[in-house]
Amino acid sequence: MLRLHVLAATAVFAVCSVRPVFGQDLVVDTTGAGVLIDEALNRSEVMQNLQYLSDVIGPRLTGSSAARRANDWTLERFKAYGLEAHLEPWKFGGTWTRGPMRARMTAPRAHDVIAASWAWAPGTGGATVTGPVVRIDATTPDSFVLYRGRVKKAWVMTRPPSLVWNTDGPSMTAADSQRQREFVRTIFTPFRDLDSITRARMQQFANDLPYLLRRAGALGILQDASKEHALLNMSGSPNRILPLPQIAVAHEDYALFDRLLQAGTTPRLAVSISNTITRDSVPQWNTVAEIRGSEHPGQVVIVGAHLDSWDLGTGTTDNGTGAMCTLEAARIMARSGLQPKRTIRFVLFTGEEQGLIGSRKYAEAHGAEADSIQAVIVLDNGTGAITGQALQGRTDLESLWRAVLAPVARLGVDSVVNRNKTGTDHLSFLPYGVPGFNFNQLERGYGHTHHSQSDTYDMAVAADLMQASAVMAVSAYELANLSGMIPRGNQTEPTPVQAVKVSDSLIVKGKGSY
Ligand SMILES: [Zn+2]
Repeated sequence: MLRLHVLAATAVFAVCSVRPVFGQDLVVDTTGAGVLIDEALNRSEVMQNLQYLSDVIGPRLTGSSAARRANDWTLERFKAYGLEAHLEPWKFGGTWTRGPMRARMTAPRAHDVIAASWAWAPGTGGATVTGPVVRIDATTPDSFVLYRGRVKKAWVMTRPPSLVWNTDGPSMTAADSQRQREFVRTIFTPFRDLDSITRARMQQFANDLPYLLRRAGALGILQDASKEHALLNMSGSPNRILPLPQIAVAHEDYALFDRLLQAGTTPRLAVSISNTITRDSVPQWNTVAEIRGSEHPGQVVIVGAHLDSWDLGTGTTDNGTGAMCTLEAARIMARSGLQPKRTIRFVLFTGEEQGLIGSRKYAEAHGAEADSIQAVIVLDNGTGAITGQALQGRTDLESLWRAVLAPVARLGVDSVVNRNKTGTDHLSFLPYGVPGFNFNQLERGYGHTHHSQSDTYDMAVAADLMQASAVMAVSAYELANLSGMIPRGNQTEPTPVQAVKVSDSLIVKGKGSY
């Protein structure tokens, strides 16, 4: 037994902290961890489940029939392991189906371009649309004005090529690293240093840009996939249905177009795309299963991961691995015969890739019960073994997490750091004050597999996933048996799930939401 003393200095904290402080000692009981670890490492089913999910069900784009098959199949797996399970519906803003696509450079020489349509972008209706490639500066409304006249009937590069380092060449110099950091900063936080009014204007311009390009007669937008060795990248959401084709182009081809333009030769591009977009909202489902607590069944530890994926590969490492480790943690708990004092709920979210939508809707629907959710623990950083916990600002819980992870320290889980993890489903619960965490993991090539066509079963590492399943089961069980509830985090207004706001003047009336 490891004891954790949460500060009892309520008198001081009442004055200087907005966070309610509980005076009790939180005691971590590690009894039972050994049984769970043994089940995880010696009788694992995680790889066979992951193989079925990856190879037979395949990619699970939210809104697709494969996503629903994954819901149904995971529901049956949870039940087969002896858990109570059901599907919880939520409303999704409309489906997108990828159709066939071809992109070919026709001048100055013939060359098949490696590319894929961005999701929730329209196609060309199957017609081949040919035009020159132009590169513009669309950084600000003012820079766009200078280039607007050049986009008519052209495929438009709105940014310079990304700085993708050749890892087979010499190492980066300090100047190279600085240049790359600066590039990343200008791409991801371009408006960071601006005042709030200018920032709002720039954000509106970014929302409007595809519409401005369509109005100016552009054929479509080309985007650098920004990865090594022709790997592609993917994103998109019904919250931002695009008004014209947009395609992710392999970095090698995007950089080729740019070099040709710099040298005074205009490449020509012939593209055909057949996509289907539906605009009416449709039901989607989170798969939910639980083991009821023996002493406090109304108090719940949520173990979660997202079941949906992008569709270029099979969504194995993003996030078949997290989803199957969650299912495996449920199997381990059920097979162990251990009785958690609080309920352990296993939730496989959908709609994560379109903006954490399934988990945000889940958190909203269960907002009234937020104070009885002990914690949410999520696995969503690829196939790598768990290295420890990221505290997400909850430095007051550092010793709690050290105590929780002590039984799995021998499996390499030995770091508890204050890191804010972005882009995973634990974030959806934080506004409600629920302690939410996303485990840190070994990298294991996640930068390559993430959203690319190489996100396939052969990238999964069996030993890592057996370890991760053990860590999730042990953490969930100990949090369920903790002597009290974890102090709540600060509450904030949850951001509503809604469509990106485009300037009214750019919307063509009578053509859906274009
Ligand atoms: Zn993910």
